[in-house]
Amino acid sequence: MTTNHKPLSIIAKCALCSIKTELFVCSHCDEVICQKCVDKHQLKLNETLKEHWNLCKTKFDNLSRLSGFIKIRKNSFVNVSFCLQIFTIKMRVMLKMKSIEYVY
Ligand SMILES: [Zn+2]
Ligand SMILES: [Zn+2]
Repeated sequence: MTTNHKPLSIIAKCALCSIKTELFVCSHCDEVICQKCVDKHQLKLNETLKEHWNLCKTKFDNLSRLSGFIKIRKNSFVNVSFCLQIFTIKMRVMLKMKSIEYVY
């Protein structure tokens, strides 16, 4: 999609509004149309581009939020496994002490 409308340098009826005037090839629909219709299509084109841009922005925001969420999940998982390791070591130590207690 380009925003350059090629002027044809011919005077003829516009394909859309049928007004006899200078015509252009619209970069939005490739129709041979007048300046007024080109302007209207330019607005449509801008809206479409804006919609695409907003969609991309939303997708990007969602992705970055999701990647942040995954990072948090990963960190909490690391924390949980770290706690489990400490707990296991503590239990081992306690069991050893108990067994020592039993032996003595
Ligand atoms: Zn057009
Ligand atoms: Zn027209």
